[in-house]
Amino acid sequence: MKTLDADSHSAGQSHRYHSWLRCIEGCAGSYSLDSMVYRCPSCGGLLEVAHDLEALRQRSPAAWMKLFDDRYKRTTWPYGSGVWGKKEWVAPEVDDDCVVSLDEGGTNLFWAERYGKKLGLDDLWVKMCGNSHTGSFKDLGMTVLVSVVNQMIRQGTRPIRAVVCASSGDTSASLAAYCAVAGIPAVVLLPRGKISTAQMVQPLANGATVLAVDTDFDGCMALVQRLAEEPGIYLANSMNPLRLEGQKTISIEIVQQFDWEVPDWVVIPGGNLGNVSALGAGFLMMQELGLISRLPRIAVAQAAAANPFYLSFLHGFRDGLQPVVAGPTQASAIRIGNPVSYPRAVRTIQRFNGVVEQATEDELAQAAARADLAGLFTDPHTGVALAVLEKLVANRTIVPGQRVIVISTANGLKFPEFKIRYHEGTLPDVRPLLVNRPVELPPDYDAVRKAVFR
Ligand SMILES: *Cc1c(COP(=O)(O)O)cnc(C)c1O
Ligand SMILES: [Zn+2]
Repeated sequence: MKTLDADSHSAGQSHRYHSWLRCIEGCAGSYSLDSMVYRCPSCGGLLEVAHDLEALRQRSPAAWMKLFDDRYKRTTWPYGSGVWGKKEWVAPEVDDDCVVSLDEGGTNLFWAERYGKKLGLDDLWVKMCGNSHTGSFKDLGMTVLVSVVNQMIRQGTRPIRAVVCASSGDTSASLAAYCAVAGIPAVVLLPRGKISTAQMVQPLANGATVLAVDTDFDGCMALVQRLAEEPGIYLANSMNPLRLEGQKTISIEIVQQFDWEVPDWVVIPGGNLGNVSALGAGFLMMQELGLISRLPRIAVAQAAAANPFYLSFLHGFRDGLQPVVAGPTQASAIRIGNPVSYPRAVRTIQRFNGVVEQATEDELAQAAARADLAGLFTDPHTGVALAVLEKLVANRTIVPGQRVIVISTANGLKFPEFKIRYHEGTLPDVRPLLVNRPVELPPDYDAVRKAVFR
């Protein structure tokens, strides 16, 4: 790929930045970002994006912070995006005019004041990653992946016939939208009948080829990994480290939103475990480049119905990953029994003195309802994270006075069945405590008045 002079936008300095793929297990060998390899050819391990940190260190921490702040939500293409504003740290070799961006990132931090007070926390924040083009944080990574593919197609370096992914719902929505913007064919494999209607409709509307396969997410993932070996097929799952590079900006953006202060805890729901690894990578890169001097602790939240990472954590990760068959859960996007990014996530938990906790269907639904009463509109995955937060406060792992960030991964509007059925009292395994129902009335003033003053 062509090397972009990444400073062309800013101060007229002329460092050149460079990134490449390498094995996370430390095998020799490096591959360009546009090589269509997804596993280490020597050991079969996962790949990660590495950056030329020496070149990045030529700019001082204060200068990076200023550059990122100057670009944040501004108008110079594509740097107003929360992801592309950190382009030198993400994918420096993508040409600006190959970038496929929908202004991802830049989402608000919701101060959960009333909800936090009930838990004894006065510094609790929810990072609203679902306030995004397709309604989930998946957009942060997809913009990078589709931009790299777009560059390959435009420069004719690789023959790409289609980009494919297996999805528990949100990945396919994101892939389909970004590909539709760029005019690139997308194929998505979904577990038939196991995702929300809204999630199913998104890739259909964007013109992707939608394969509803009679299996679960793990079954789709296995099929897609074989498909990716066919000529001209590019793999878009988070096994592909390009996505994690974009998602990594979550942590940079959170710290930036606190004027470069590091929180004490980040709580994040985990399924395939790419996002927690990305979260960790962002903090580590800020530390390596001197923007921050300490790390937060990280808590991964799993649904009890799909908890292989939790079980492995209970055994100190000694027995490795024992895949499970993931059962039904409202948190359908994390219904994953055999998480691909497990090895990355173990490292993140170890490095960040992290914990893994789980939440039942009842716990996730009640936590979501409690948070909703304080102004949120919580999707079930964020419900899992909030339920886990409540448990960690109850057992004093998280204590009053600490600044805590909960990553909200999706927009509640994508999961209307979850909301409706909670307030109807028809969610399986949930005894709803906070039901609120419409008061049905005749068009009669006295009846209305009575209802208002009751
Ligand atoms: C993808 C997704 C997750 C899980 O992220 P992983 O990287 O698979 O751990 C959590 N919540 C939502 C809403 C998602 O779409
Ligand atoms: Zn290797």
